Amino acid sequence: MPLITHDIGLCAAQLRDGHLVAMPTETVYGLAADARQESAVRQVFALKGRPSSNPLIVHLHAGEQASQWAAEITPQAQRLMAAFWPGPLTLVLPARDDVLRCVTAGQNSVALRVPAHPMAQALLRAFGGGLVAPSANRYMSISPTSAEHVAKQFADSELTILDGGPCQVGLESSIVSLLPGDSPRLLRRGMLGRMRLQEVLGEALEERAGDVRAPGQHQRHYAPTTPAQGFVQAPAGALDSQAHGWIWCGSAHLSQGPAINLGADPEQYAAGFYAALYQLDALGLQRIYIQVPPHQEAWAAVHDRLVRACHSLT
Ligand code: AMP
Ligand code: MG
Repeated sequence: MPLITHDIGLCAAQLRDGHLVAMPTETVYGLAADARQESAVRQVFALKGRPSSNPLIVHLHAGEQASQWAAEITPQAQRLMAAFWPGPLTLVLPARDDVLRCVTAGQNSVALRVPAHPMAQALLRAFGGGLVAPSANRYMSISPTSAEHVAKQFADSELTILDGGPCQVGLESSIVSLLPGDSPRLLRRGMLGRMRLQEVLGEALEERAGDVRAPGQHQRHYAPTTPAQGFVQAPAGALDSQAHGWIWCGSAHLSQGPAINLGADPEQYAAGFYAALYQLDALGLQRIYIQVPPHQEAWAAVHDRLVRACHSLT
């Protein structure tokens, strides 16, 4: 059974010994391991069931540590770091030769982030070095936003979980790639929006594509086991069945089945989205219906996750 703890010293010691620890961040809980110990990094891939072709983000306690991992930190990178670290922004930069290639999935670029969650900060400071920390869930299932979600994902393991309460942001970080010879790219949408990033960059951010391996872009990702479906108009008759669960954004209709209203504020919605999926997924429903939020920039990251959580969008 996993151990849920508040003991940062214990967690730092376990990480130094090459064990895995689940840690809270402001985005989602991460499955952390020492990014300099190859055997520890391999355990992360094994426990998650994640293919080794999917690179990991190295988490640091301060931006000053970035030069221990990145071969080059351009003025653009410095501007983004100064504006948004600590926070939900990951930067992909040219990697130093001494960065383990199992971390970067064989590429000569490395992804770096300084999380803002006070317990992630405290753990990183106590540990001292960089921690890989992909979301603490089995490959392709819902990202955890509480210690209990992590315990559910790894119920049959002895994993130590540092409990930092519910995550405040609730969706994975925005990922920006800044590599020589390529234009700045937004590899993954997060709650830190494209407009704010572009303002600080002083340049347009192209979306994804390019030849960089894209993160979490498997089509069915972040998905509950119950079939989920997005809707604009509630499908006729569906509200009458107790076997249907509902996630609303704003005004909810009366339904026979369980319903969660995450509200019309994108930030509040994002913070509660994965928890709502966990909650409804545990009920053995036939289907989860998710009201599609407005098509506006502030909802872009939510839309991205919604498409991946759903088998179909109507
Ligand atoms: P997560 O699944 O939240 O740990 O996010 C990790 C994601 O960051 C991966 O799926 C990667 O595709 C992306 N990432 C990490 N390192 C790199 C890299 N060197 N180049 C491009 N993307 C990266
Ligand atoms: Mg993930």
